[in-house]
Amino acid sequence: MSHARIGLVGLGVMGANLSLNIADHGFPIAVYNRTGAVTDAFVASAGDLAERLVPAQTYEDFVASLSKPRAIIIMVKAGGPVDAVIADLGPLLDEGDMIIDAGNANFHDTRRREAALREKGLNFIGMGVSGGEEGARHGPSIMVGGNKASYEVIRDIIEAISAKHDGQPCAAHFGPDGAGHFVKTVHNGIEYADMQMIAEVYGVLRDGAGRTPSEIGALFEAWDKGPLKSYLVEISGKVLQTADPKTGQPMVDVIVDTAGQKGTGRWTAIEAITLGQSPSTIEAAVAARSWSSEKATREAGQALFGDDAVETMPMPSDATLEKALLAAKLIAYDQGFKILIAASSTYDWGIDLAAAAEVWREGCIIRSALLDDMAQAIRAGLPHDQLIFAPTFADMIREGAPALRRVVAYAALKGLPIPAFANALAYFDTMRQGRGTTDLVQAQRDFFGAHGFERVDGGAGQHGPWAGTVSHS
Ligand code: NDP
Repeated sequence: MSHARIGLVGLGVMGANLSLNIADHGFPIAVYNRTGAVTDAFVASAGDLAERLVPAQTYEDFVASLSKPRAIIIMVKAGGPVDAVIADLGPLLDEGDMIIDAGNANFHDTRRREAALREKGLNFIGMGVSGGEEGARHGPSIMVGGNKASYEVIRDIIEAISAKHDGQPCAAHFGPDGAGHFVKTVHNGIEYADMQMIAEVYGVLRDGAGRTPSEIGALFEAWDKGPLKSYLVEISGKVLQTADPKTGQPMVDVIVDTAGQKGTGRWTAIEAITLGQSPSTIEAAVAARSWSSEKATREAGQALFGDDAVETMPMPSDATLEKALLAAKLIAYDQGFKILIAASSTYDWGIDLAAAAEVWREGCIIRSALLDDMAQAIRAGLPHDQLIFAPTFADMIREGAPALRRVVAYAALKGLPIPAFANALAYFDTMRQGRGTTDLVQAQRDFFGAHGFERVDGGAGQHGPWAGTVSHS
């Protein structure tokens, strides 16, 4: 039996494409799928690449077909199925072998699995893969966490199959145990915010200016040639200019406006809050998807309250909307990077933040022209850990903030919901206000709970001279 350097379990959409990508780069790969017929069909449809595939119908044959130390990628549904595969494979492996979970795992699970397998002498790598089906086949962005020495064993394969930016692989090792899956989670959180902000601009143009989807699509297509150049703006332009073959209507007009939020966006928000951060743009995007699912309630609300516009101001120009979107997007990235900084410090991962921006430059869903500038700004050092304080981006924000303000004001007066934009502006205004209003919150807390406060002229643990009690009647 020929021996493969790497194996893959789970020939679904991602696993099949990743296997072909690995084979295409000259690496023989052992493949296994729980449902054996899927393995047969996969090999039968692999064309010339079939000669580099080593199919197996049992875990025993699969493991036997791998050279040592064995390296096995698991690409199955996240959660229980990953544990099930590990439980089946683990007993067949030898000390020093490695399991690589390439699905969208919760990083807490990755930490748990890594610790459990380490006790058994096995290495566990948590590897986030972004780029969807197309990326998996032709070059995804890859975020790796786990034992660095283990990663070195498969690094040539991972770098070969990843996307490239100016010849540099969009794959990096971010730290031990769950670091890679955490970077992938935050990537997805930023993806949520980016998508939501583009959708909010679409809403303002559709419901404020009465533009057609194809007109808005053409505008996005034009923006994709400027500073907003990105995969998400590009595909939004294409989507909006696509007609439904069945009715001839714009495709978006025949799509129900409800969405789920499967996990990673919500995980980003939950973990961020646990870490003392509040990525309000990402939270707004998660909230928008949750609210979208309440379709019947929203329809009842529309019947109840109708058009709630109080007054109007001129519709912001296309150039204003473009600048506002750029500013809001930078703020979303600012919040995303702060989560990575906080997690890296809490879990002692030593995440190279600039490397995150670098691996996101190509292959992944949030790839954009801005990421290269972000990587450079991070390498130069972020003042107060704020991306928007870095000189290049501070200039962009100075130019974009008035536009953002105008768009948020317009939407508020017109009664159009733009939660991610509004949160971006609120965050920016908070971060540029040296003295806020939490002095009153501290006084309130001291009044009802004797929590104490710090005085501006020195001295923590102070209490106020609050007089008497307050009548509630
Ligand atoms: P699919 O639904 O296409 O495939 C799922 C695979 O998991 C199948 O091979 C299935 O085998 C296998 N599987 C399910 N349950 C078990 C089990 N209990 N034991 C063994 N095998 C099992 O999933 P995707 O390829 O889309 O996703 C795989 C992973 O990649 C997920 O974690 C996903 O979140 C992540 N991901 C997906 C992306 C995408 O765009 N689709 C992008 C980035 C990451 P069987 O044929 O026997 O049912």
